[in-house]
Amino acid sequence: MLIKTIPVGQLETNCYIVTDEATLKSAVIDPGDESSVILNYIETNNLTVEAIFLTHGHHDHWLGLDGVREGTGAPAYVHKADSFPAKERGSHMMFPADANIKYYAEGDVIKVGNLEFKVLETPGHSRGSVTLLCGDAMFSGDTLFRDSCGRTDFEGGDMATILKSLLRLSNLEGDYEVYPGHMGSSTLSRERSFNYYMNYARNNG
Ligand SMILES: [Zn+2]
Ligand SMILES: [Zn+2]
Repeated sequence: MLIKTIPVGQLETNCYIVTDEATLKSAVIDPGDESSVILNYIETNNLTVEAIFLTHGHHDHWLGLDGVREGTGAPAYVHKADSFPAKERGSHMMFPADANIKYYAEGDVIKVGNLEFKVLETPGHSRGSVTLLCGDAMFSGDTLFRDSCGRTDFEGGDMATILKSLLRLSNLEGDYEVYPGHMGSSTLSRERSFNYYMNYARNNG
């Protein structure tokens, strides 16, 4: 598994391109902006994108989605709780779903080449926030950051709920490399030791 990180957009959202090196089949996680930069990496490395995953519906995680979909033809997945039908009025914080969007939920496993992405529902930053596990990699969106966690003051956010989600991640067996939606990567064992919010959740869960 090869993981390329491209920070995109004003909020420097981490877009991850995850490649199965045996087949060059890839997934794009959170194409938050700058689709041309993302597509350039894909084309330069002869990758075939088979899926696009949104960790949640906030716009800084999908502004580049249309460009990446057009460039790759790959289906895009989001959790239904962070989406609204395009014909209805919605908040800019939510993803405007169209007929082509696919919804994923707890326990779904999506194969990309030899890689398997498992969906965990981890609400709290938003109602439809998910964490994706693939091998020993954890893509935690804005649920878990290095030393911190996502804001809960947006619509659909809730502190008690994100603490439950952090406790759930903390209680997973073994260790993971953590690839969050913003800022640097970490490991789950490091966050178990040093993350204030994760520790608070463990001591009060
Ligand atoms: Zn967010
Ligand atoms: Zn974000």
